Amino acid sequence: MIKVEHLHKQFGHNEVLKDISTEVGKGEVVVVIGPSGSGKSTFLRCLNFLEEPTKGRIWIDGEEITDKKTNVMKVRSEIGMVFQHFHLFPHKRVLDNLTYAPMKVKKMNRQTAEEKARELLRKVGLTEKEEAYPDSLSGGQKQRVAIARALAMEPKLMLFDEPTSALDPEMVKEVLNVMKDLAQIGMTMVIVTHEMGFAREVADRVLFLDGGKILEDSTPDEFFSRPKTTRAQDFLDKVL
Ligand code: ADP
Ligand code: MG
Repeated sequence: MIKVEHLHKQFGHNEVLKDISTEVGKGEVVVVIGPSGSGKSTFLRCLNFLEEPTKGRIWIDGEEITDKKTNVMKVRSEIGMVFQHFHLFPHKRVLDNLTYAPMKVKKMNRQTAEEKARELLRKVGLTEKEEAYPDSLSGGQKQRVAIARALAMEPKLMLFDEPTSALDPEMVKEVLNVMKDLAQIGMTMVIVTHEMGFAREVADRVLFLDGGKILEDSTPDEFFSRPKTTRAQDFLDKVL
């Protein structure tokens, strides 16, 4: 589903990603872990071309988004992205947050879009909130709306950048549970998170990023019990 070859990203003289190569298979759940500033967000943003790589090539489901001839908007519309700070449309009701992109980008008719939206709201446990405005929701509810909104575009894969980092502790679980459900139905996901319990339970693979490089690419069991590098060991000592 994703192939990354020798990806480099520089901001000015700051080389943030240094020769990243990896692949993510269809249905795989990959958790990206690493210290602040290690390049995790930049890596995710390169995957959907929110950041343009300085060097290297990226394929999404066989289409090379780093090829100048590729329609980036089209490929991006097939990738769901969920951010730490939700990014909902504040002036739209929850239901309209979900129907907007499918109607505008996919030219779905309103009735079909609303039927799909209601089905997704049911899946994330927010059926009763379709008329609500984002401001009236809790952080956990907002993030579940954001996930449902991404899913409304029927993405081939989902990228999550610290989806629970801005939430009060009691709301973390409801969001992680929605992500767990997605993993179970075979959604391909790349997830940046500091939720180590979740990573251990749900990830097929853990990538440990430090200083813009992938230092470890292991199963969660290997990573948490027998990290190969002292950098990862030091990191785990601090967070666990
Ligand atoms: P992480 O998500 O792991 O905390 P980031 O990918 O956000 O790390 O940032 C990695 C480095 O890239 C940091 O040094 C950050 O300051 C820098 N950086 C990120 N985005 C930009 C940008 N748009 N312009 C300049 N520097 C950036
Ligand atoms: Mg980040």
